[in-house]
Amino acid sequence: MQRLSRKLKAENKTIGFVPTMGFLHDGHISLVKKSKLKADITIVSIFVNPTQFAPTEDFEKYPRDAKRDKKLLSSNGVDYLFMPDVSEIYKLNYQTFVQVEKITGILEGEFRPLHFKGVATVVSILFNCVLPDYSFFGQKDAQQVAVIRQMTRDLKFDTDIIVCPIIRESDGLAMSSRNIYLSDQERIDALVLSKSLKLAEKLIGEGERHTRVIISKMTSEINLVASSKIDYVNIVDADNFSIVDKLIFGGKYYILIACRIGKTRLIDNVIVKVS
Ligand code: AMP
Repeated sequence: MQRLSRKLKAENKTIGFVPTMGFLHDGHISLVKKSKLKADITIVSIFVNPTQFAPTEDFEKYPRDAKRDKKLLSSNGVDYLFMPDVSEIYKLNYQTFVQVEKITGILEGEFRPLHFKGVATVVSILFNCVLPDYSFFGQKDAQQVAVIRQMTRDLKFDTDIIVCPIIRESDGLAMSSRNIYLSDQERIDALVLSKSLKLAEKLIGEGERHTRVIISKMTSEINLVASSKIDYVNIVDADNFSIVDKLIFGGKYYILIACRIGKTRLIDNVIVKVS
């Protein structure tokens, strides 16, 4: 992979990179489209990264369909697919991990304590393999973007991090490879995530500025759905990902939810500007 990327760079081509775990949907394809607009060559990786899953999580049963993914990527004009084996990324006696501090201690980090260590490590390895000029990530995983931005700045990776908006189903559910786990009833129940985010936007639009009030109303709405179990609902400053008590004029914030619907853990968020 590195040899290929060096050759492309020697030919003065810019490289756009879209890292994924496969089982692709329109959210992933939106990243591919952005990359194709921005870079000469688009490289997608598919790697279900074992180090970002806890032993209790769904690494083994994470959905995989390489044949379908390959077709989708070629029909969308992707130039190269990088699909390494786990044993190639983590060779025997692998010992090195990347730990971004502070920002990984809250929200997702609280409920998935080793998750971001796995993410930061694999993204570092992938950056070193692909040598991208531009790297594309979804706002769907807003905290992941914050962690990767921090890591890229701290470790001086020579790539621009470009964030793309959340792609949703027509009824509002954020697209996710994990949506396939939902039963028909759970698929309906899962709409409560985007609905409660809409409620938060409405409250803020009407002038509510206390995050405690917004979070409490969102929580009540989600709790009406029997299959739901909230991990967190919170509001952070979009610039530094710190939790805030009060929204201020001119501020930009993420409203974030992680919630189980039945056995499926879903995340969603919106960005709001207070004006
Ligand atoms: P994943 O395969 O779930 O690891 O996701 C790979 C990339 O696609 C990540 O940068 C995600 O944030 C992004 N992504 C996943 N779902 C969506 C979505 N619904 N809209 C936009 N980007 C997404």
